[in-house]
Amino acid sequence: MALNGIQIFKLTPKKNCKECGCPTCMAFSMKVAQGAMQIEQCPHMSADAIAQLSAATAPPMKTIKFGTGDQEFTLGGETVLFRHEKTFVSKPRYAVALCTDMDDATVEEKLAMIPKVDYERIGERMYAEVVYVNCGEGADADKYTALVKKAAGLGRSMVLGCSDPEIAKAALAEVKDSKPILNGANASNYEAMSAVAKEAGVVLGVSGKDLNELYDTVAALEKLDNKELVLDVTGADIKETFANAVLVRRAALKDEDRTFGYPSIVNTVRVAKGDLHMQAALAALFTMKYGSIIVMEQLTYAEGLPLFGLRQNVYTDPQKPMKVEPGIYPLNGADENSLCVTTVDFALTYFVVNGELERSGVPLNFIINDAGGLSVLTSWAAGKFSSTSISTFIKEEIEPKIKCRKLVIPGKVAVLKGDLEAKLPGWEIIVGPREAVQLVKFLKDMQA
Ligand code: SF4
Repeated sequence: MALNGIQIFKLTPKKNCKECGCPTCMAFSMKVAQGAMQIEQCPHMSADAIAQLSAATAPPMKTIKFGTGDQEFTLGGETVLFRHEKTFVSKPRYAVALCTDMDDATVEEKLAMIPKVDYERIGERMYAEVVYVNCGEGADADKYTALVKKAAGLGRSMVLGCSDPEIAKAALAEVKDSKPILNGANASNYEAMSAVAKEAGVVLGVSGKDLNELYDTVAALEKLDNKELVLDVTGADIKETFANAVLVRRAALKDEDRTFGYPSIVNTVRVAKGDLHMQAALAALFTMKYGSIIVMEQLTYAEGLPLFGLRQNVYTDPQKPMKVEPGIYPLNGADENSLCVTTVDFALTYFVVNGELERSGVPLNFIINDAGGLSVLTSWAAGKFSSTSISTFIKEEIEPKIKCRKLVIPGKVAVLKGDLEAKLPGWEIIVGPREAVQLVKFLKDMQA
């Protein structure tokens, strides 16, 4: 049960020494209660108090990691039910399903299709991060292990969907170093599955025929000292799956029932098999309501573009401006002699302007200034996109790398032209159009 500020205050040393950065122990306690500070930030807290408070102030939902290296992903750790309350923490991961029931040609086709979706949007790589390898009925250890090994060849993180402990053990012997999730524990096999998962050092996925059974199985696994779990909340149909996902998350975060405080797996293939449109719609639904790993039959650009865009919108921290890295972005085959065009680092501005510049076909160096992630006029008004900031950036970062001395500035800050010419001797400052959509004509006219 979470403690309030007063309860936390009772455990503090009450020195009011300010070493934690707060003016008093009470102020510190209130921040810890809100989740804005960690108790370890007070250097005078006794070990006993830290132990008591750590348990009481731990997030209601466990953070689980799986995969390795750059394919390691974090699931869970959420503290709120709604995006408007606070930032969501761990974005859902999309998994493409393979199954031993598929013929070889289908498996090969899917394996070839998965890497095709791979692009960058606002500094984030978008691709199917996970492969879900399902063990169909009647498959033996050899057949399943062969498929798991094939899937591992893609280098993506994996979830092994297998409820037979012996088959799971054989497959894990081949791929346990890549730290997949083993999804297959249920009321009848959880002891054996837990032993297999623990031996391999991997996270265990748990399911139940209904929420009561799932709850009891999780509680039983916790008694076996296994708390590296994810909950497969997929039900018999779409309605039940949605209800399960919401109820489990509400129980964890609102009722603070830590037995349900684990990330979830939602398998859209089981509730909408063969219906790719429905699976894509469900993936969007469970991106918002509360899938941690969402399994689909395929993830082409048709599914990926809207899903990744949605995920990035929902899981981006609204308190941090969406920015791109300041620097030089050569476009259309530009070199050091190509024209320079500059704007701010606000992601939306960058993408709109970048699209128009590419469309113009004119080779140019697109120069992004550090303007605090604000739009052109906002950053200009805030003094973050000024003649001083632009000229300093140009002198330090651009002049050593680019020979061209022509710089196009946004039309909305035409007022900076005079100052920039004074601060950047040798540069020709050209006032560009006010709107990005006018850039293509503007650049082509310049070339004519
Ligand atoms: S560092 Fe600890 S003792 Fe000092 S003011 Fe902060 S909470 Fe109180």
